[in-house]
Amino acid sequence: MEKLVSVVYYAFFISVGAAMGSFANVAIYRLPRNMSVNNPTRSFCPFCGNKILWFDNIPLVSYILLRAKCRFCKAPISFRYFLVEALSSFCFLICAYHFHPPGNKPPDMTSFFLALSASAFSLALIICSFIDAAHKIIPDVIDIPGIFAGVGLSFLLPNLQQDTEPVKALFRLIFAENRFSPWLDTRLIALSSSIIGAATGAVVILIVAILGKKIFKREAMGFGDVKYLAMIGAFLGFKFVLIAFVIACLVGTVVGLPILISGKKYHEIPFGPFLSLGGFVMLIWGGKVAYFVLELYPRWVMGES
Ligand SMILES: [Zn+2]
Repeated sequence: MEKLVSVVYYAFFISVGAAMGSFANVAIYRLPRNMSVNNPTRSFCPFCGNKILWFDNIPLVSYILLRAKCRFCKAPISFRYFLVEALSSFCFLICAYHFHPPGNKPPDMTSFFLALSASAFSLALIICSFIDAAHKIIPDVIDIPGIFAGVGLSFLLPNLQQDTEPVKALFRLIFAENRFSPWLDTRLIALSSSIIGAATGAVVILIVAILGKKIFKREAMGFGDVKYLAMIGAFLGFKFVLIAFVIACLVGTVVGLPILISGKKYHEIPFGPFLSLGGFVMLIWGGKVAYFVLELYPRWVMGES
C-alpha cells in the first residue's frame, strides 16, 4: 500500500511537471514577444496560425505522435518543445524525490508543499534559461515575483532554506535568549536567510558587472542577471547562492571557451542558463556540494586527509 502511494505520488509530479513544461513553452514563446501568457488561451502554430487541437497538445506524447510536425501545414515543431516538457517533468520528479525519498513512510503535507515550491522554482529556472538563451533577456515578470515567492515561501515552509546555520548563529548573537516561540523563531530565521540570500545574489552580480565594465570597458555580465541571482538566492540562502554562482562560472567557462574560440564575443553568451544550472544543483545537492567545497576540498588542498 505504502509503495502504491509513493508510485502515485511520483507519477503525479511527473505528469504535473510535463503539463507545466507545456505552459513553460507558451511562456518562453510569448513573454519575450510581449504577448499575454493566457490570451489567446489556445496555442497556435507559428507557421500556419491554426489553433492546436487539444489532443495534439498532450505534453511529451503529442510531439512523438505528430512526429514533430504541425498537423495542418506539416511545418516542423522545434525540438525545444519536447526538451522543455521532458526537462520540467524530470525536475519535478527530482524535487518530489528530494523532499520525500522512497521509503516506508507515506509523503506528508509539508514535504508535498516543499516539493511543489521547489518544482515551481525549477520551472522559473527553465523558463528564464530558455528565454535568456534565445533573446538574452530575463523577464521581470518572473524574477521579481520570484524573489518575493522565495522570501514568502521560506517563512511558510522554513525547511525550504536548507542551510540556516549561519543565520541561526547570527540570531543567537543578536537576540541572545530574548527569542520568540520556537515556531516563530524557525520561520524568522528562514525568512532572514532568504532575504540575506537574495541580497547576496544581487550584490555578487552587481560587483562582477561593475568590475567587468571597468576592466573590459563593456558589459561583461548583464545587469539583468542581478534580479535573477537575487531570486535564486531567495530560495537558496547566501552560502548556497554563492556556490551556485561559482558553479555557473566554472561550467560557463568550460562551455563558453569553444564558443569564444569559434569567434563569438564574450557578452554574446547568455549567463542565465549557467546560473540556473548552479541554482538547481544547489537546490537538490546543496548540502553535499557545500560539504565538498567548504570542508573536503580545503582539507585535501592543505594536505590533510
Ligand atoms: Zn502549422
